Amino acid sequence: MSRLLKIAVLGAAGRMGLSVVRAVAAAPDLDLCAAVEREGSVHLGRDIGELAGIGKSGISASTELGAPDVVIDFSSPEVMQEMLEHCSRKGIAVVSGTTGIDEAARMALQQAAGFIPVLWAPNLSIGVQLIYQLAAQCARAIGPQADIEVTEAHHRFKQDAPSGTALQLVQVMADAMGADARQSMVAGRKGADCRRQSGEIGVSSMRAGDIVGDHTVLFALAGERIELTHRAASRDAFVNGALMAARWLAGQPPGLYGFASVLGLDATGPAT
Ligand code: NAD
Repeated sequence: MSRLLKIAVLGAAGRMGLSVVRAVAAAPDLDLCAAVEREGSVHLGRDIGELAGIGKSGISASTELGAPDVVIDFSSPEVMQEMLEHCSRKGIAVVSGTTGIDEAARMALQQAAGFIPVLWAPNLSIGVQLIYQLAAQCARAIGPQADIEVTEAHHRFKQDAPSGTALQLVQVMADAMGADARQSMVAGRKGADCRRQSGEIGVSSMRAGDIVGDHTVLFALAGERIELTHRAASRDAFVNGALMAARWLAGQPPGLYGFASVLGLDATGPAT
């Protein structure tokens, strides 16, 4: 029998972390070897299986990553740099789904990729990868004539806005049109004169209840419109993607990868 892949979960007691813990525990080829939480977390020392509702796992939430083959990270942008430095030193592969990352964290991803395989994806669902592709295709075909608007909705606890997925949608569409994503994006319109300028990609965010994650891209032309919509019905969509990514990444040379590579799709835009 081949060796089990050792997984450490960073942000283990969070909404995504606990879902990953449950999925890793249920996977015959994966071995949960660490459940990492922040200093001061009330969950430190508690059995992560019990927290996840699957009974004793023998792994307590701690601040130590240990020596896994792969870290699966759904935590917070602040931890990114330190975690990547640790993993680079120890030769540990990293799958990170954490969103809201800044320029420094992006640089840290690039630097770590010189030493270890790193996969960062603001959305680890298969469907959203296809929406990226379709949005890029529409933008290439009709983008300059269309009014493009992205709307996204998430649960009331989500910290960052717009979502990482909405930002990535803007990026892939801007790339497809040869435009600058930062200049094109107009997020959260408000004010006395919000008339559209040409080339704008509008983004609107809603935070409500327990919505797992909805994204729609609208291309409006005179007299007709196209809407591409993805709705995540449960966190399983992201968890399954994270596990697929971990299995795939363990066999890769150092580099920065996106989820599209795992699925064998053409990457749209920079590695994401
Ligand atoms: P959450 O707040 O429920 O969980 C985050 C967990 O990380 C918390 O338990 C927190 O204590 C822990 N944490 C914070 N700092 C830490 C540190 N320094 N070390 C260890 N643990 C630390 O949030 P969530 O809903 O689980 O989402 C987590 C992240 O994943 C967010 O950035 C979210 O946007 C992102 N996310 C990504 C995807 C995707 O497909 N890529 C899907 C869902 C959520």
